[in-house]
Amino acid sequence: MSIEVPAGVRKVAESLDDVPAYVYDLAGLDRHAAAVRAALAGTEICYAVKANPDPEVLRALAPHVDGFEVSSGGEFAHVREVLPEAALSFGGPGKTAAELALAPSAHRWHVESPAELRRMREPADVLLRVNLDVNVTGAALAMGGGATPFGMDPGGVAECLALLGSSPVRLRGVHAHLASGLAAPDLLTLAEAVLAYGRSLGLREFNLGGGMAVSYTRPEERFDWAAYGAGLRALARPGETLRVEPGRALTAYCGWYLTTVLDVKRVHGERFAVLSGGTHHLRTPVTKGHDQPFAVLPGGGEGEDGPVTLVGRLCTPKDVFARRVTASLAVGDVVAFAMAGAYAWNISHHDFLMHPKPAFHYLR
Ligand SMILES: *Cc1c(COP(=O)(O)O)cnc(C)c1O
Repeated sequence: MSIEVPAGVRKVAESLDDVPAYVYDLAGLDRHAAAVRAALAGTEICYAVKANPDPEVLRALAPHVDGFEVSSGGEFAHVREVLPEAALSFGGPGKTAAELALAPSAHRWHVESPAELRRMREPADVLLRVNLDVNVTGAALAMGGGATPFGMDPGGVAECLALLGSSPVRLRGVHAHLASGLAAPDLLTLAEAVLAYGRSLGLREFNLGGGMAVSYTRPEERFDWAAYGAGLRALARPGETLRVEPGRALTAYCGWYLTTVLDVKRVHGERFAVLSGGTHHLRTPVTKGHDQPFAVLPGGGEGEDGPVTLVGRLCTPKDVFARRVTASLAVGDVVAFAMAGAYAWNISHHDFLMHPKPAFHYLR
């Protein structure tokens, strides 16, 4: 595994002390988002804020996206504050009364159930979230294709359609986020099913969701945005609006998490490197069950070759970044974890053990 570390990240590593650091490569994010925007010409892009709501990340993405997808009143208020003019799509199962009151000021409201629609008492532009009976094998996570709490099956949609006559909302189309971790051809197959279903209801606006694959085991492998964009253009009919809402595949690559090696030890024949950080800062490898890709920036110490397990300093055996990987590590080296820009800091359990919070750096 050979990971290229941007010069700005190396610079932060040079002055890193025992407090870990997150580095967001905003210049790299700008280039990536511009390339995605170009590849998806003709399709609207909404960034799924839950992947990483950092204000600087949101500002870097803003010029390249049509809007933001939020899944809570907290995310809604946050994006409103950072980017007051942004168009917001609001989705997610289980909405409180306070959240439902936001519906009139959302660009799109994703209705998750007939009961939710019954509770909507003010005009709003809605998409009905559908969970179609499709094949999602091979996906990292499945939100559709079977019984899940997300969206509605066609029976639930039919119930909503019957309610519309007495509802103040305006039906704009359908929303679907059926699976995540899929390659372009698989996502296009799902898109085809969602389009056919929406058209059968006479609708012309389609939010096809996110879920574009990100490979942590083969970091150089990237989602084929060009093929996906071309495929969507081939599927769309004149007068239709197609929208996607990627999260992980937009921001994963711009984030780095830097830690120093505090200890290297051998226990019952196995070598461990104990780092100054932990999964309370970067929970991604534990939740996804992978080895987080990393690069070593030597600190001048004499490392030993051979398999080593990279751990944090939480008092739990689950605090592991990578298991039995080949690396030469010495006390004082910096380990720069790559692909820490999505579902990383913001999904981690920051307060467990009360270690210091990382510093945050932004490369422009
Ligand atoms: C999480 C989520 C997304 C983004 O998914 P990624 O896998 O990060 O692309 C998009 N839409 C909805 C409704 C989501 O819940």
